Amino acid sequence: MNASVEKVIKSLPQNLLKRAAFAVKKVIFPTRCLACRSLFHAKARSSKDSYLHDSENVFERVITPFFCATCAFGFLPIVPPICPWCGIMFKSRQGEDHLCGECMASAKKFRIARSVGTYQKPLMDAIHCFKYKGKTQLAQPLGAMLFKSFISCWDVRSVDVIVPVPLHDRKLKMRGFNPSLLLVRHWKLFASELKINMPTIPVVRDVLQKARWTEPQTGLVRKKRIENVKNTFSINDSSKIAGKRILLVDDVYTTGATVNECAKVLLRGKALLVDVLRLARAM
Ligand SMILES: [Zn+2]
Ligand SMILES: [Zn+2]
Repeated sequence: MNASVEKVIKSLPQNLLKRAAFAVKKVIFPTRCLACRSLFHAKARSSKDSYLHDSENVFERVITPFFCATCAFGFLPIVPPICPWCGIMFKSRQGEDHLCGECMASAKKFRIARSVGTYQKPLMDAIHCFKYKGKTQLAQPLGAMLFKSFISCWDVRSVDVIVPVPLHDRKLKMRGFNPSLLLVRHWKLFASELKINMPTIPVVRDVLQKARWTEPQTGLVRKKRIENVKNTFSINDSSKIAGKRILLVDDVYTTGATVNECAKVLLRGKALLVDVLRLARAM
């Protein structure tokens, strides 16, 4: 290389060079959409903090490098009015938050539950790619969305411990990772990127155990789901949660049977309270 050209390149900021290289790569080599497998040109993005700072279309922002425009379209965030207890979004966009019939009929063990978006395309596709197709590159962008929900719904000092909903050992071996655990792994990094003074919240992954193998909840009616998860979880070491305010993290909330059962066991282990946060909420 010409010495003067080399000197100019060396004088450029490293991130500018990286961005330029990324943009060139994207023009030459298209990306394969994780959802529909078609080839598309992903928009060059400066760095991951750009989607953390953006509050509009957060899903499209995070999914842009992985999904084509068609597959990324149509995300439905959870917006008021919602049930303040279980966090379900009401179909009508009118009125204030109010308890849903389900929470009035049966009290929940957790204090509050909140979700990022509704469990339908394209968030459903993203979760399927992440969970079932092992596309763990989605853990960070989906985790960023979860983190943004966390900081908008909770005071970052009001949680002592994060507990990801555990998998049975056999499921963990089959899948190779616990999705809920990967979703919270970069939170400290996100907090520093957003310059949020957040204390380190320990992620405790061995305190709650799924001791009994259960059939997948998918396709089961509500009553069966509750029966299916009954007495499946146990506490390993209650000293890690006694007197603590716990944030239980899961990927999808359908009937809430799993998180309710986890909350019951955690409270029995002397946790002070259990809140729930997950990516998607079934309508
Ligand atoms: Zn696509
Ligand atoms: Zn409710």
